[in-house]
Amino acid sequence: MRTDRFNSATVLLLQALTGMPAGRLEAVRLVPRSRNHLRMPWYPEHPGGAFVHGDRIYITDALHAAPTSGDPDAMLRWLLLMAHEVGHVAQAWRLGGTRASRWRFTAWAATGYAVSFLRNGRHGYRKADLEVEADRARRLLRTWMERTGGCHAQHPLIQLVMRDDAPGMAAWISTHAGQRP
Ligand SMILES: [Zn+2]
Repeated sequence: MRTDRFNSATVLLLQALTGMPAGRLEAVRLVPRSRNHLRMPWYPEHPGGAFVHGDRIYITDALHAAPTSGDPDAMLRWLLLMAHEVGHVAQAWRLGGTRASRWRFTAWAATGYAVSFLRNGRHGYRKADLEVEADRARRLLRTWMERTGGCHAQHPLIQLVMRDDAPGMAAWISTHAGQRP
């Protein structure tokens, strides 16, 4: 399994969770954090230490390697984190229009966090509007998993993603995935 982009099974799942067009999910590049030379003040607070810059998702090196690790627990953490991060990619597309904006998204996000810290104090990060919005797909993924056996590494979704079983994923989604909220 490649680690620099989503495989077909993952694209199908993220598409079902977010409603994003497949092409935008296929265009996402996953970059290990050690290759990041940008400095974002909110970086350490972000769950899993990831952050989005346009259509690039920067992830901690350990989690970036999860898809090749063969470790279902790492895969579960990776999948939940990706379900959140692609919410930010969708925001970057919304700001950019014809492409995923990088610096405009970053400036917009910085403003959103600053406003939320003024409003929500030490919960400013978690309660920022852009975070609550981005977290919708992750919450939905948890709900789907909890309804179908539990949100744990032995859930069939984890194997479907690890094997890149696109037909199996499509069948799982059509059987189990409810309407998006
Ligand atoms: Zn976030």
